[in-house]
Amino acid sequence: MKPSKPSVYLHPVSLVGAGPGDPDLLTLRALKRIQAAEVILCDDLVDPRVLALASPQARLLYVGKRGGCVSVPQRFIHELMIREARSGARVLRLKGGDPFMFGRGAEEVDALRAAGLEVEVVSGITAGMAAPASIGIPVTDRRHAPGVAFVTGHSRAEAGPGEGPDWAALARSGLTLVIYMGLARVEALTASLMAAGLSAETPAAAIASAHTPQQSQLLCTLGELAAQLQAQALCSPAILVIGQVVSQAQGLRELSLACARA
Ligand code: SAH
Repeated sequence: MKPSKPSVYLHPVSLVGAGPGDPDLLTLRALKRIQAAEVILCDDLVDPRVLALASPQARLLYVGKRGGCVSVPQRFIHELMIREARSGARVLRLKGGDPFMFGRGAEEVDALRAAGLEVEVVSGITAGMAAPASIGIPVTDRRHAPGVAFVTGHSRAEAGPGEGPDWAALARSGLTLVIYMGLARVEALTASLMAAGLSAETPAAAIASAHTPQQSQLLCTLGELAAQLQAQALCSPAILVIGQVVSQAQGLRELSLACARA
């Protein structure tokens, strides 16, 4: 698309993080942008309670994409945002969590800028922080880990060898591993971590639909994670956490005992 000059009459497009679920976790700036928006392009991970904060006059366009389902092509989303913004509307691109955490936010910013539009990014609380914290897991507790790695468990369908996370390197890193989109490939990725030397006894957690009324979680070990996820039928969206910090989770003992009894 040919870049054109930014127009002073156009509003910047706001790329806003809606947080993991509960609207209490929105930033004040996100709330202001949601209330002022005239057109909202929304992902399917955005909580309906957040959308309810929009003006009743706002036009809501769902452009979500979920793993395995037919999705709205990314190029179409770009074109729609550009068209609406050029018509002079206050356009809000609302994304679950933080817009720059695995949300294709960067590609959208590039497309908008290439079209000569101004973009404002409003950070949100990412699920990778909020989900572990919701059950008391401090992802960088220095007594257990020197840091944290946020990684995807779902590499691009067309990913070639060497693309996607280097599980063997992560296994040796000592970092807490926070894995997004990991449910579908949990068996393979936990096997790779153990093959690279990470102990099967390493504490592990899965937190599904964090900060929503449907939240559920399980605590077990790396070696049990894939089987436990299947046994307890935890559904997407879920965050996986692997590392000693998981031992800090609230009620770990009670939950692990329940896990062992199940
Ligand atoms: N931008 C989002 C992440 C988009 S990728 C963010 O910052 O949170 C989508 C993945 O995020 C899901 O597959 C899941 O792994 C995770 N996720 C999003 N919302 C979640 C929630 N409420 N609870 C648990 N995991 C969630």
